[in-house]
Amino acid sequence: MKILKLPKEQLDFFASVLQQFGEVHAPVRTRAGYSFRALERWSEACLDYDRTVLPPKKYFLPPRETMLTYRRPDGYVAGSEGLNQKLVLFGVHACDIFALNLLDKVFAEGVFPDPYYRTRRRNVAVIGIDCEPDEHCFCPSMRADFVERGFDLFFYDIGDHYLVMVGTALGDDMVLATGPLFTPVADADIVEYKRRSALKKTKYQLEVDLRDLPEIFELEYGSEIWEELGRTCLACGNCSTSCPTCYCYDVQDQVELGSTEGPRVRTADTCLYSQHAAVAGGENFRHSQASRIKFYYYHKQRGFVMEHGRPGCVGCGRCIVHCPVGIHVVDVINRLRGVRDAVASH
Ligand code: SF4
Ligand code: SF4
Repeated sequence: MKILKLPKEQLDFFASVLQQFGEVHAPVRTRAGYSFRALERWSEACLDYDRTVLPPKKYFLPPRETMLTYRRPDGYVAGSEGLNQKLVLFGVHACDIFALNLLDKVFAEGVFPDPYYRTRRRNVAVIGIDCEPDEHCFCPSMRADFVERGFDLFFYDIGDHYLVMVGTALGDDMVLATGPLFTPVADADIVEYKRRSALKKTKYQLEVDLRDLPEIFELEYGSEIWEELGRTCLACGNCSTSCPTCYCYDVQDQVELGSTEGPRVRTADTCLYSQHAAVAGGENFRHSQASRIKFYYYHKQRGFVMEHGRPGCVGCGRCIVHCPVGIHVVDVINRLRGVRDAVASH
C-alpha cells in the first residue's frame, strides 16, 4: 500500500480535482445532525463530525428504489434512478467502511450477487477519514476501528498534514491527478501518526468482550432480558434504519386493477417492525416484540458470526444515540454476560 502526505491547506484544491471523478458528497451539518450530501461548495463539508444520522449505506442500498418498470406487452425495463452516476464520498469513518465491507459479503460476494448494489459499489468512490471517538463508540471491540480495504484513499490527521493511505488504483489516479501535491512521508510524520493512533485507543469509554459471544447468546436464548426488552421497545425501527450493517428490504410490484404497467419497488425494512415476518394466510413467525428484538440481536451478534466469522455490528453507536427508550447494545450484551451496570459506570 502506498502511503503519502498532503498539506492541509491544499485540501480545497484536492477536493476541486476530485470533481473529475464524480459528484463530491461529504458530511454536512443539518438541523437533524450530520448528513452525507452533495456539496455546493467545499466549505460546507464538516470533516470533524462525530457520526452521520444515516450511514453511507444509503448510497448503496437506497431506502427506496425502483428496480424495474414493467409494461404489457413489452416486458420490463431494468434500472434504478442514479444507478450509473459517478460519486465520490469524502470523509467516511473506518467503522462505516468496515460496514460496507460486511454488506459486500451479502450483496456482492454471495451466491446471488445484487446487480444494483454491485453497480453502485463500482460507481461510488470512497475516501475515508480518521475520527475522534465519543461516549457511544465501541468500534475497537468490534475490530472495526481500522480498515485495510474498502476505500480508495484514507486520510489521517497528523497536524499540518494528512497522512494518506492509497487503497486502490482509482485512489492512485486521484493522487496523480493533483500533480506534485502529495509527497512522501518523513520520519517525523510516522512518529506523529503512531502517537495519535496510540492516544486515540485510550479515548474509548465502552467495551464489549467478543470472546464466545455466540455461545453466550445460545445459552441465554430463554433469558428474561428478551421479554423485558420486548416490553420497552417501541418498534420504531430507528436502531435498524440508522445501522450501517442492517440490510433487510421488502420488494413490491405496484399494480392496480386493470393496469398494464408499473414499477417494482424495493424499500428498506427491518425485523423490528411487526409485519416483517408476516406471511400469506395471516401467520406471523415473530408475533411478539420480544421475539422481534431478540431476532435483531441474534442475527447481528450470533447468526452473522456463524455465517461470516464476525458480528454484524461495527460499534458505530448509532443505535444507542437514536433509541428513544434508551435500549443500549453494549448494556444488553454485558447483561447477557452477567456484567452488571456496565454502561451506568461510564
Ligand atoms: S448495531 Fe448499533 S452499534 Fe452496531 S453497527 Fe448497528 S447501529 Fe452501529
Ligand atoms: S430504536 Fe429502540 S425502541 Fe426503536 S426499535 Fe430500536 S430498540 Fe426498539
